Amino acid sequence: MSMITRIAELIREHDDYTVIAHIAPDGDTICSCMALKLGLEQIGKKAQVVCDNRVPPMFAFLEESYFVKTMPDVKRTESCIAVDCADRLRMGTCAKLFDAASFTVCLDHHGTNIGFGDLFCVDTTAAATGEIVYLLFKEMGVDIDSDIARYLYCAIIADSGQFAYSNTTPRTMRIAADLLETGIDGNELHTKLYSSDPVSKLRIKARAINNLQLFADGKIAVTVITQRDILAAGASNEDTEGIAEMLRGIDTVELSAVIKEQRDGAFKVSMRSQNIGNVAAIARKFGGGGHERAAGYTIARPLTYCLNTLTDELLRELDV
Ligand code: AMP
Ligand code: MN
Ligand code: MN
Repeated sequence: MSMITRIAELIREHDDYTVIAHIAPDGDTICSCMALKLGLEQIGKKAQVVCDNRVPPMFAFLEESYFVKTMPDVKRTESCIAVDCADRLRMGTCAKLFDAASFTVCLDHHGTNIGFGDLFCVDTTAAATGEIVYLLFKEMGVDIDSDIARYLYCAIIADSGQFAYSNTTPRTMRIAADLLETGIDGNELHTKLYSSDPVSKLRIKARAINNLQLFADGKIAVTVITQRDILAAGASNEDTEGIAEMLRGIDTVELSAVIKEQRDGAFKVSMRSQNIGNVAAIARKFGGGGHERAAGYTIARPLTYCLNTLTDELLRELDV
């Protein structure tokens, strides 16, 4: 029996769920969680979605995202599902709920995930955890209606770069086609998520380009965004999403990285690779994780240390 079939069976035997998104939530984790909540409720279960951080405003058009709870408002439940979390730490303080639960499931697609929980499905061939939730719903007999489809479609376009990244497979496209068949407006979702940027996002991009450093004949691009940059651009931390992809889009670049200063002074590093170099391997060295072509970590050290160690690792990865 496949793991997804086993998970589908056991989910039916439990009633009260907490669905946990990862810290610094992105479209895949939020939308996969929301789809799971709707699917569980459809088959008569209780379900709440929790996240350690607030949901970025770009998801506000998905009305139900207001229902995502933060830790103090959360009641403990017997069952928990970790969604798109490469390890326990990615749940932040919500890990407490997971550890206290008597039935735990992990649904994820990160290559650095070694598996945790009573049952786990880590499918690294899935472009998004949303793909796994779709397959799970098929096993569970959940009717994927247009409300659920909207969320799953958003989860998939978020992690596949709107079907442009190398993680996009024929299966991704088939699932997306099936979701569109429910009557959802794909163009509306692409536009709301990716063509509705506040001007502050463009201003922070401009600052990131200004701070750009190129190494190894332009094969490596690194930039730094400080809290001062964010303030001067009138931007929020969420506005820094997508900058690593933008740098990877330079014709000479194989490896790109953005070092983003957090409000607490730590640095969050986002890395992307084009055709060569495994950025998940670098992330793992610094206690982070991710995929071969997109990975990240957080480091509480001075900026020069962070920049030097990162460029050393990127140069080494280019030689592998
Ligand atoms: P980001 O650069 O934040 O968009 O993240 C790229 C990929 O790496 C995503 O799939 C994240 O889930 C993963 N990732 C980022 N930071 C971490 C971390 N600290 N630990 C594990 N995975 C991470
Ligand atoms: Mn994610
Ligand atoms: Mn994901």
